[in-house]
Amino acid sequence: MILLNDVVGHRARIGDRIDAAIAGVIRHGRFIMGPEVGELESALAARAGVAAVVSCASGTDALLLPLLAERIGPGDAVVVPSFTFTASAEVVALLGAVPVFADVDRETALMTADSMAMALQVVRREGLRLRAVIPVDLFGQPAPVGDISTLVADDVLVLADAAQSFGASDCGRPVGSLAPVTATSFFPAKPLGCYGDGGAVFTDDEDLAAVLRSVRGHGQGAHKYDTVRTGVNGRLDTLQAAVLIERLAVFDDELVARDQVARWYCERLFDLTPIVKLRDGATSTWAQLVVLLDDAVRDEVSGAMAAVGIPTAVHYPVPLHRQPAFRNHPASTDMSASDWLARSVLSVPMHPYLSESDVDLVVGTLRSVLKTR
Ligand SMILES: *Cc1c(COP(=O)(O)O)cnc(C)c1O
Repeated sequence: MILLNDVVGHRARIGDRIDAAIAGVIRHGRFIMGPEVGELESALAARAGVAAVVSCASGTDALLLPLLAERIGPGDAVVVPSFTFTASAEVVALLGAVPVFADVDRETALMTADSMAMALQVVRREGLRLRAVIPVDLFGQPAPVGDISTLVADDVLVLADAAQSFGASDCGRPVGSLAPVTATSFFPAKPLGCYGDGGAVFTDDEDLAAVLRSVRGHGQGAHKYDTVRTGVNGRLDTLQAAVLIERLAVFDDELVARDQVARWYCERLFDLTPIVKLRDGATSTWAQLVVLLDDAVRDEVSGAMAAVGIPTAVHYPVPLHRQPAFRNHPASTDMSASDWLARSVLSVPMHPYLSESDVDLVVGTLRSVLKTR
């Protein structure tokens, strides 16, 4: 059976080790902030080459905590791409700040300096105060954070949404170290997934990390019942940390396997239909392998795939500037790439445990539909 994403594929290799790690947590009983949490944070910081990692309860919390730490709220604008998962903008609206939607690049599906510049015109027109920008590493490759950063003042928070891209790099530098603050997710379907919800924030700023830890635990100060700011209950479960420590040990192998699967797809698809392009110098975790199809054939392709048992998905069918929850928020005047991508993208099976013959079957099915047209 071909899965879109295999969240238990690793179990054949490390299932026993994960089960032992879980049993270990159950034995020591420190379910909240047990020793595995700190151990995981150190391992993640070393891997990304940053001073501090603050783990948390989800990728969404990893985006929320830095915004809370910076006290972003009413009257503040945060630029967010429209073509992303809803959580990227949800955290902004939740704090009473205004998400200002930027368009993305048609080929990479990422925000660029150009689309950022257009969104900044909207920020000025609306008389808002720019406090942050959230470039999103969609489908697993890092957004051009450096280019985007040059357009904003030093006191504007550049928060990379790396929910899909932890493990990727840009010009040899790992995701986690590319932006001043980076959020990732350990949701099971992400490249590095746990057995439930989880996330982490990466930064070189130790002072900010201390505030993030406080915000994560109810705004705690010097002791447990000292509340110095408004926070949340956003801790990562010890059980999830124990799972992630084991998964991290084979993560590099899985990234190599993902790259191999992506290469099999690229070799077979190049004359058929474009896939979302990698930027020069960037690597991808291939959180999704996304083909771009004429919207007239997309349903036909996904139907033909389903008929032979191959799952597909659309990430994402509605850009955020058209979602009921966000429709009233400002967007750049030209959102045509986000609108076009929402009509054109189709995610095909992608995970490290696919075989070359699985890829042959997916591409063969796609070819048979496109040939009959
Ligand atoms: C998954 C995802 C999130 C949210 O992560 P959760 O762990 O599910 O809260 C945020 N942004 C993007 C781009 C995502 O793909």
